[in-house]
Amino acid sequence: MLDRDHCLSLDAEDPLRDFRQEFVLPDGVIYLVGNSLGALPRRAAERVRQAVEDEWGEQLVGGWNSAGWYEQPLRVGDRIAPLIGAGPGQVVAGNTTSIAIHQAVSAALRLRPGRRVIVSDVRNFPTDHYMVQGLAEALGGYEIRDFAEGRFDDAAVVLLSEVDYRTGERHDVPEVTARVQAAGALMVWDVCHSVGALQVDVSAADFAAGCTYKYLNAGPGAPAFLYVNPRHHAGAVNVLSGWLGHAEPFAFESGYRPAEGIRRFSVSTPHVLSFAALEAALDVWERVPLDLLRAKSVALGSLFVDLVGDALELASPADPARRGSHVSFRHPDGYPVMRALIDRGVHGDFRAPDILRFGFAPLYNRYVDVFDAAVTLLEVLDKEDWRDERHAPRLAVT
Ligand SMILES: *Cc1c(COP(=O)(O)O)cnc(C)c1O
Repeated sequence: MLDRDHCLSLDAEDPLRDFRQEFVLPDGVIYLVGNSLGALPRRAAERVRQAVEDEWGEQLVGGWNSAGWYEQPLRVGDRIAPLIGAGPGQVVAGNTTSIAIHQAVSAALRLRPGRRVIVSDVRNFPTDHYMVQGLAEALGGYEIRDFAEGRFDDAAVVLLSEVDYRTGERHDVPEVTARVQAAGALMVWDVCHSVGALQVDVSAADFAAGCTYKYLNAGPGAPAFLYVNPRHHAGAVNVLSGWLGHAEPFAFESGYRPAEGIRRFSVSTPHVLSFAALEAALDVWERVPLDLLRAKSVALGSLFVDLVGDALELASPADPARRGSHVSFRHPDGYPVMRALIDRGVHGDFRAPDILRFGFAPLYNRYVDVFDAAVTLLEVLDKEDWRDERHAPRLAVT
């Protein structure tokens, strides 16, 4: 079953096979890092050129109205909504994930004034946990408890990632959300490693945040997004009370009055040029059947796990239903192993202290890529090329 020809025939029958042509992929590279920075959508460069030359260049400041820049955060939020199980008017795009988390957790704390515990996962991607630490320090009087303790009865809010960035472990969103809410706490999901990788559904949650530069392919520095459940639109406070969350930004009043609906979670001037690339990325997503996406993601990940076999220790759950779209292995010399692999054209990444990560982006990764990547990895391990000293020095971004 696991031969190369079989993989080629799986690619030929793959219902998502045509999406690969929508992306620019350099020759000689097998790119398994779409979980960190997605590939370039073929139409993004033209869309960005248009935003720069036709909109900025020709329309100048009028572009805020005539090119629709002003409405970008909500218009694009509405386009992201179906990818996370949300509806129109529930998602605002802009800023960064860290900022969206700060907004969500702050708002949740204000909605549970009697409770002084913030539950956060110490293994989460550090910025999430750092933002909670900074917030607790700024507000004073809050205790941070690790999610693993499993106690929510006195918690104001629980912040968790659907998919763990290191191991790829997937939490059960409906089950955790229900448990947290039954304890009287509010649930904030981070979907950075799940949006664009599986069928995310945060509709029962109180808040959710995520980025668009990973599986959504919106490019380096692309805007993030924030989902706010409509039941909180009237009562939740945006502590980052910038002018674009005001009821009437162009009345230039001296007092802050929040806008109605999701707009109150806007902060300030959108990153118009980055939004242009995000819009091009979302043009592709409009046509993606998410059930087929998830099925292929599971198949690619399982194929890789089977091919690597016991050559490396699996750090991800063995059951694909409990994984997101990346697979991780442990190796004590993980960094030089990954550098040696990249040297041979197979791009994964390394996460300290010992994790080798391989992300599978079903829109552009093929079965044959997975086969070739696994064969190359086994060769690197077998021939020990990673011992070459040129693979040892650490780059700033791993
Ligand atoms: C990628 C990622 C982030 C990124 O945060 P930024 O503020 O956009 O830099 C945050 N949280 C998680 C869980 C991530 O995977």
